[in-house]
Amino acid sequence: MNLHEYQAAEIFASHGIRTNPGSVATTPDEAATLAQAAGGPVVVKAQVLTGGRGKAGGVKLARTPDETREAASAILGLDIRGHVVRRVLVASAVDIAQEIYLGVTLDRARRQNVVMASAEGGVDIEEVARDRPERIVRALVDPFLGLHAWQARQIGFALGLATDRVAGFATIARQLYDTYLREDATLAEINPLVLTGNGDWLALDAKMTIDDNALFRHPGFESLRDLDAEDPTELDARQSGISFVKLGGDIGCIVNGAGLAMATMDAVMLHGGEPANFLDVGGGASADQVAKAFSLVTADPNVRAILINIFGGITRGDVVAEGITEALRRVAVPVPIVVRLSGTNAEEGRHLLSETGLTASDSMDEAAAQAVRAAHAA
Ligand code: GDP
Ligand code: MN
Repeated sequence: MNLHEYQAAEIFASHGIRTNPGSVATTPDEAATLAQAAGGPVVVKAQVLTGGRGKAGGVKLARTPDETREAASAILGLDIRGHVVRRVLVASAVDIAQEIYLGVTLDRARRQNVVMASAEGGVDIEEVARDRPERIVRALVDPFLGLHAWQARQIGFALGLATDRVAGFATIARQLYDTYLREDATLAEINPLVLTGNGDWLALDAKMTIDDNALFRHPGFESLRDLDAEDPTELDARQSGISFVKLGGDIGCIVNGAGLAMATMDAVMLHGGEPANFLDVGGGASADQVAKAFSLVTADPNVRAILINIFGGITRGDVVAEGITEALRRVAVPVPIVVRLSGTNAEEGRHLLSETGLTASDSMDEAAAQAVRAAHAA
């Protein structure tokens, strides 16, 4: 789950990181009123769940309330890579002397959290990562010891910071690491972390992704979810307890179990097809769940065939087959369906399915090949 800048900034501040406080406006007039209250130049920033807002015209400086109104009306409604701006953050403009990149994320290959920093902070960090990776300092963090003070200072020195700025930087790096850990984030990022003209450190941007699997530990985060920004089908799926991720292909996949769902997508690709989605119906495959899965998958107009892949462990194949036939009575499915059913009572299940005219196989490979052929023929 991604947080908006203003939400992440509030969380950073609650962990002691100095941020540039601002307020959110949804109309140009509201923005102008906030600028009036700020009593000086402000920055107006699009609140969308994507980076690179600056380059896309989503961050503007304004000297007066009138300029703020203009800036806000230019930014509100702007489409930044598919994210329409509905809110802007208005904050006092800061006099920037130096911009640093600072982030914490998980290095899966090394199985450790990693702190990354660069003296080339600001809007072009992706470019730095691509063209001058040596300009990014990385420090792996021992999971038992955390980010040591000396380690944080070492990052500061490696960035070439003035000696008397290193301690301040190290404090923020440790606070950010602490925030990342305690809030169960998979990413916590400040870009830019700035040194102001007065020599103070200030987090001018805030980005945070929370690990969805840890959300149950943070019930407060649910209210931060931006339902406007979510794919409506994925939202619908989550509310039904189905894991669903929309992809670009034309073969709809309905599978029980996350691992099998991944393997199913691989099988489709091995036969020259492209999966339209990842879908895990969860434990069983009741008529309700399968009917829901059918409507999720067929909501995508690109889908030309559906591959159902169910392995009956505790779930019995005949019950699954009844679920599928019952679901088909409730939902109209306009594309060919291929079923692979194996495991407990699979034979009875396949028999039931073939009676209703469906193609059922016990081989995943064969079913995937059939689904790809069906999609290509359609
Ligand atoms: P992003 O492009 O989505 O990462 O948006 P940021 O919040 O990082 O803003 C982009 C850039 O706008 C920053 O790197 C700064 O250079 C600039 N910026 C943001 N806030 C201020 C401010 O208060 N004063 C000044 N002078 N520049 C700002
Ligand atoms: Mn930024």
